[in-house]
Amino acid sequence: MAFEQLIGNDKIKDILKESVKKGNILHSYLFVGNEGIGKFHFAKEFTKMILCFYKNGCNQCKSCKEFDTENHPDFLVVEPEGNTIKVEQIRQMISKIIEKPIISDKKVYIVNDSDKMTEEAQNTLLKILEEPPENIIIILIAEKEEKILSTIKSRCTKITFQPIEQDKLKEILKKQYQYENISEHLLTFFNGSIKKALNVKEKKEVYEQIEKMVLGIKQMNKIGMLNQKNNIDKEEIINILEYMNLLFWEQSTQVDTKERESAVKSILIIEETKKRIQSNCNFDMTVDNMLMQLWEEWNEKNDRS
Ligand SMILES: [Zn+2]
Repeated sequence: MAFEQLIGNDKIKDILKESVKKGNILHSYLFVGNEGIGKFHFAKEFTKMILCFYKNGCNQCKSCKEFDTENHPDFLVVEPEGNTIKVEQIRQMISKIIEKPIISDKKVYIVNDSDKMTEEAQNTLLKILEEPPENIIIILIAEKEEKILSTIKSRCTKITFQPIEQDKLKEILKKQYQYENISEHLLTFFNGSIKKALNVKEKKEVYEQIEKMVLGIKQMNKIGMLNQKNNIDKEEIINILEYMNLLFWEQSTQVDTKERESAVKSILIIEETKKRIQSNCNFDMTVDNMLMQLWEEWNEKNDRS
């Protein structure tokens, strides 16, 4: 993927390109923003330009070729092993940093999901940020900025990425990924994240069914509601619950007072379900329970009063 093909955040693209062209590259960056909006792709393309012999990501020079085949000796990505980036990983990275570049005039290190560094890892990284060796560029990528030590942040140039606007996202999904006819609810759910959209695309039917269920909950009978369990993909459960929450929340802004109360209660029921699933409660029982509670909330309660 060339730099030009990256989606959104045009201003950042321009700034990064200009800085490479003028040789104004800084020692350390912090790329922050929501998940799935392209921070890592930006970091990689930026790196390619920095390492390129002609400083433009020409695709022709030895550096660009090695980069594209993922063999560039002056480039390294550090990522979580399991849930965290451990101090040992940072130590290994530092041991390589002190070596001189091999084919390019600089070396670039990307720490992806850097908000998952343990505190020890962060403190170790801090030492190198305090006295960065010449010709070394470190790019930290993070979703949750607050998890990064302020001493690290103060040594990095922060670049904040914006979610992709809904219209633009819609257009890209259609043109590049042949994903169309997306409901407005889903577009809101994507929150400007291509990654999230593509994940939903793979389970499109599941999400469409969930939407139908929530929006039609008042017309459903008890058995129909329980049968909805077939649409609830175990692997996808947390995302599905979050989507249901969004749908009920949207409902709550459109309906009368009595139903608004049901919408709010539904959100609480779903949040409770999320907690249970996360603490490994029995999946079938938890989901059955949730469906029943939701159904009662929208049918029996509203009938009674
Ligand atoms: Zn090149």
